Amino acid sequence: MTSPGQVVVVGGGLAGLRTVEELRGRGYGGQVTLVGAEPRLPYDRPPLSKKLMTGALDDTTLRHDLDPLHAEVRLGERAVSLDDGVLTTDRGEHPFDALVLATGATPVTLPGDGRQHVLRTIEDALELRELLRPGVTLAIVGAGWIGAELATAAVQLGGRVTVLEAAQTPLAAAVGPEVGRLTAQWYAAAGVDLRLGQGVESVRPGGLALAGGGWLAADVIVTAVGVRPTVSWLADSGVALDNGVAVDAQLRTSAAGVFAVGDCAAFESLRYGRRLRFEHWDVALHAPEVVAANILGGSQAYDPVPYFWSEQFGRMVQYVGHLGAGGRGAGGQGTGGDGYGERLVWRGDPSGERWAAAWLAGERLVALLTVGLPRDLLQGRRLISAGLPVDPGRLADPRIPLRDSVLT
Ligand code: FAD
Repeated sequence: MTSPGQVVVVGGGLAGLRTVEELRGRGYGGQVTLVGAEPRLPYDRPPLSKKLMTGALDDTTLRHDLDPLHAEVRLGERAVSLDDGVLTTDRGEHPFDALVLATGATPVTLPGDGRQHVLRTIEDALELRELLRPGVTLAIVGAGWIGAELATAAVQLGGRVTVLEAAQTPLAAAVGPEVGRLTAQWYAAAGVDLRLGQGVESVRPGGLALAGGGWLAADVIVTAVGVRPTVSWLADSGVALDNGVAVDAQLRTSAAGVFAVGDCAAFESLRYGRRLRFEHWDVALHAPEVVAANILGGSQAYDPVPYFWSEQFGRMVQYVGHLGAGGRGAGGQGTGGDGYGERLVWRGDPSGERWAAAWLAGERLVALLTVGLPRDLLQGRRLISAGLPVDPGRLADPRIPLRDSVLT
């Protein structure tokens, strides 16, 4: 786009805010409008299931002063349709020269007429926090990243927590059953009743109707079974959708001048040779750099080695890379782990407090999950990016720095 013009950004989360920041940071002097459905300034979501849930934090606003961005910030306004170069919201129409879709993701819910909580917004989190009093019985459906983090906080607050998981291990869909199995012990040690292989049929007043006919009574029920990209409002827009807004490597949609970024965007990954969508904070932070550059006439590709972290049961879990040519990652979608051609190598004793799981494709490190080993994570990230061959024996030895496992 030739400056100045009019850029409209839909979605006031991290990806939306970062897009505005990057446009201004690159000297864009045209009009910028940020349309966000939530009534508050952009805020950070990762603390919602961690420090905010335990009460160590009350506010996660990303930036209190948006004035330096010289943007028209329209909070509490929802985009409802996109047609022929005009964005329509519940408050009016916004013509644009460039439009950025950053509408994030929406939690999946279960059938049933009982009250089920989800954990996506700060209101969700504050409401739940109020309910997590000592002695409360909490049922969490789903032993994924959010389920594990919420269970961690809830036991800390004195709750009696049951987690129901349909798969045979936690995190099976994200990092595979071998690693997931190890994390099951963390639940038990924290006093959480983890029930694996247990599906849930519906949420009823006072409890859960379980698959197979059982019943679990609970004061509070949280559904944490994943999210879907927030794209239904685009159904008739002509913008191609494919597990989110389909974008190319430059984060351009099928419609001229329209870009997508963050949790809602499924981008063509050059590195992995297929379209991928990640629900990672790191993507929402960095992909807007590429969007802003390309709005301003660039032709940059977004080609990250994906990175994600989680804090559960007193442990820092970090994951970098991507498993399986079939599109497996640590996001809300896909399945990782064994069975996809990669070889799993343990680094350190996985029954201990600090260890790592490394996945090799041939001689190359393609993914790494670390528990309590941030330095390994950093070094592993560089090895994965560089695609250098490694020695599995040295990789498995925690006394040898990970970077020294490179074959010379
Ligand atoms: P969002 O943050 O979802 O923002 C999208 C915004 O768009 C929302 O405000 C939404 O209301 C708005 N919107 C939607 N539709 C419309 C519309 N039609 N019109 C206008 N506005 C609209 N990631 C990690 O890597 N590590 C973690 O530890 C971690 N922890 C997390 C914990 C929780 C509880 C949650 C919920 C997420 C966590 N994540 C974590 C994921 C990370 O927060 C997301 O990847 C990130 O927030 C995505 O940013 P986004 O801007 O793409 O989407």
